[in-house]
Amino acid sequence: MNTLFIITGPSGGGKSTLVHEVMKKMSGLQFSVSHTTRKKRKGEKEGKDYYFLSKKKFEQMIREKKMVEWARVHGDYYGTSQKEMERKKKEGDLILDIDIQGAQQIKEQFGKVVFVFIMPPGYEELKKRLENRAQENEVSIQKRLESAEKEITHYSEFDYVVINDHLRKAADELGAIITARRCHLDIQEKKIQLILRSFISHD
Ligand code: ADP
Ligand code: 5GP
Repeated sequence: MNTLFIITGPSGGGKSTLVHEVMKKMSGLQFSVSHTTRKKRKGEKEGKDYYFLSKKKFEQMIREKKMVEWARVHGDYYGTSQKEMERKKKEGDLILDIDIQGAQQIKEQFGKVVFVFIMPPGYEELKKRLENRAQENEVSIQKRLESAEKEITHYSEFDYVVINDHLRKAADELGAIITARRCHLDIQEKKIQLILRSFISHD
């Protein structure tokens, strides 16, 4: 049984960085590539970072019920398609990097999902990281900081909180959460039954 991991938290908190770090080290993880109407940033690749599409196409996908979840974030549409989720989930445990509104929609639809909230270490550090990322203008950074103020108050709706102060430590913590879930009885049950059967057939 493959598990769904939802990584959420304010923009600039380090979700993509941490997911990237963990995926470099752990096997059996798939990343769900979202659809968005926002402009492609320098270095981003179609189908790897996002599927970039027009507002019109996105709204059509909503109407045709092709999105598992979607939200308007900082003035643009972002969403996870049914197709992407089904395809990737077959290949391993699936990671979704989505905003809080999306995470809440997933919570309403699916059981046994692991929710991880990535908490920035403080306002000043978040501002610095957004500025250093240098992919947004002043207005867009301001929008993200204002949203962050509201978003961080939602931390208690999720299962785990990783405070992303030191990158190495935070990545290890996210990896540990994934490992802990993989060792959970619910997940191990099938394998355990096979082991038990090998003991029975041995008699
Ligand atoms: P998100 O995906 O949540 O929007 P990013 O992963 O893009 O955030 O991180 C925002 C910026 O902060 C990036 O420039 C990233 O390199 C930097 N960053 C992430 N984690 C840390 C950390 N622990 N220490 C310093 N900088 C970090
Ligand atoms: P960015 O523009 O910085 O890549 O992403 C902005 C915000 O949109 C981030 O908080 C990110 O988690 C969120 N986001 C990315 N993909 C999705 C998605 O498919 N659904 C939702 N609800 N949010 C998303």
